Amino acid sequence: MIQTWQSDQSHSTAVPVISAQQLNHYFGSGELRKQALFDINLDIYAGEIIIMTGPSGSGKTTLLTLMGGLRSAQEGSLKLLGQELHNASKQQLTHLRRNIGYIFQAHNLLTFLTAKQNVRMSLELHEEMFDRDVDGTSVAMLEAVGLQQRIDYYADSLSGGQKQRVAIARALVSQPKIVLADEPTAALDKKSGRDAVEIMQKLAKEQSCTILLVTHDNRILDIADRIVYMEDGRLAANPETTIMAPN
Ligand code: ADP
Ligand code: MG
Repeated sequence: MIQTWQSDQSHSTAVPVISAQQLNHYFGSGELRKQALFDINLDIYAGEIIIMTGPSGSGKTTLLTLMGGLRSAQEGSLKLLGQELHNASKQQLTHLRRNIGYIFQAHNLLTFLTAKQNVRMSLELHEEMFDRDVDGTSVAMLEAVGLQQRIDYYADSLSGGQKQRVAIARALVSQPKIVLADEPTAALDKKSGRDAVEIMQKLAKEQSCTILLVTHDNRILDIADRIVYMEDGRLAANPETTIMAPN
């Protein structure tokens, strides 16, 4: 059994599930090289829900994709589930990604598959699921996000909010240790957006899964255990601590 830490336990003894130390990131090369992330230090612990906010272009997606092993760490240290991503091999990254669920603004469902088939696909990538009830597990997950009436509907025929709930079911069905969500409510109306994050929050607490959620949506900030703020590629625990240039 893998030990999980309760979020109310002292963090000083717990090992973070995500740990960035002096992380820098650059795009382009030569004259065009531009630094997108500066000295990022962030520890995230098991079961925490962290919301990252900040202006467009400040580096939120860049940091999220680094933390998801979707791009390679260039400079500094980034540990995911205890493993260093800086200089990690493709194979190590692929292996680590199996512990992560991703939810994006554009839900990225396969529109020619049904809701259940979309959720199933995510499970079929997991070898340990081969002798399990993949179908039953997928249906149960769709029920958990309130889509019991839409299980065999094609993704194409679902509303925006329903598609995003399928995306949540797909991200969480394999019980990942970490869920990364990039502006998951951006395309949703107020009610659907709120519903979607509340479902994420409930499922994550049940599975003691860690969530890192990027958003501009002030209406959902209250679901966070902690809010971090990104500006010009730098991170601050709250907006007041970013040093503003004097006028
Ligand atoms: P956010 O998600 O906060 O809006 P991003 O992480 O997408 O910000 O972008 C941060 C900065 O890095 C921006 O200046 C953006 O133009 C730049 N950037 C992002 N992705 C790339 C890329 N693939 N190539 C070059 N520059 C990029
Ligand atoms: Mg972004």
